[in-house]
Amino acid sequence: MNEIESKKIRSLFIVKSKRYLSPHLIRIVFEMNEEQLVWLSNVRSGSNNKLFFSSPSGEKPQIRTYTNRKIDLMAKELSIDFVHHGEAGLASAWATHAKAGDHLEIGMKQSLRPLVPLTDRYLLIGDATALPVISAILEELPANTEVKALIEVATVEDELELYTDADLDLKWIHNLHPEMGSDLVAQVKTLRFENEHLNSYIYLAAEYTTVKNLRTYFRVDREWNPKDMYACSYWRIGVSEGDGLDRLNP
Ligand SMILES: Cc1cc2nc3c(=O)[nH]c(=O)nc-3n(C[C@H](O)[C@H](O)[C@H](O)COP(=O)(O)OP(=O)(O)OC[C@H]3O[C@@H](n4cnc5c(N)ncnc54)[C@H](O)[C@@H]3O)c2cc1C
Repeated sequence: MNEIESKKIRSLFIVKSKRYLSPHLIRIVFEMNEEQLVWLSNVRSGSNNKLFFSSPSGEKPQIRTYTNRKIDLMAKELSIDFVHHGEAGLASAWATHAKAGDHLEIGMKQSLRPLVPLTDRYLLIGDATALPVISAILEELPANTEVKALIEVATVEDELELYTDADLDLKWIHNLHPEMGSDLVAQVKTLRFENEHLNSYIYLAAEYTTVKNLRTYFRVDREWNPKDMYACSYWRIGVSEGDGLDRLNP
């Protein structure tokens, strides 16, 4: 790991604009000052960040993990897409009420490493919280790459147009109440995706139970090499990220 990859940034960003990309996805665009522009020139779109929400009582800030959906150095903009899952979540509520001029402290690590290793075929699986990272991965993948993607969003109106040079076979599924469970596991089991003969990589990001079950399915039932799979729990039903990240990892 070189110096660029290990450096951490934490800075106050100002909201430039906000819009609904779909009924359940809010894009917040933050402006970058000159210093932030230099820092973010060594961060990749699709990487993770930490959002620090200060409390009025001055206690330690509440931290949430999101995706740097788009870092646009020309426009000096950082975009983060927030799933609108109601007012109970601190981050979701913040995004719902955010307006131009508001500020938020955001931290991230500098790294220009690709989001996924380069290979021939990919299976990308995610719920609405993973739509930002999956969109960024697709934008990064080159032509002559085969990609199957299965993405769960709330409704048909929440399907976004995704851009890629890869050969994409995309399936959307709908779930208005992800807090009550998901059909992703059952849907994945109907997919044909083999690792024989070709180099194949699985990227999986969704709710805790879905990730846990699918990881077991691929590792045990499909004897998938763990090296050819990334599986990350992005949230957990009934648990706030503020209750501790360790509870999120299956
Ligand atoms: C690496 C990483 C990247 C992520 N990137 C994104 C991103 O780009 N955009 C994004 O929207 N999310 C993203 N997430 C998920 C996000 O961190 C969680 O959804 C987080 O819990 C939201 O914080 P909150 O304050 O809104 O809710 P919390 O205070 O954490 O939770 C409050 C309640 O809401 C429930 N809840 C949390 N998320 C959801 C949801 N999506 N749907 C329904 N109920 C929910 C919880 O179970 C809990 O009961 C990412 C997570 C990780 C680990």
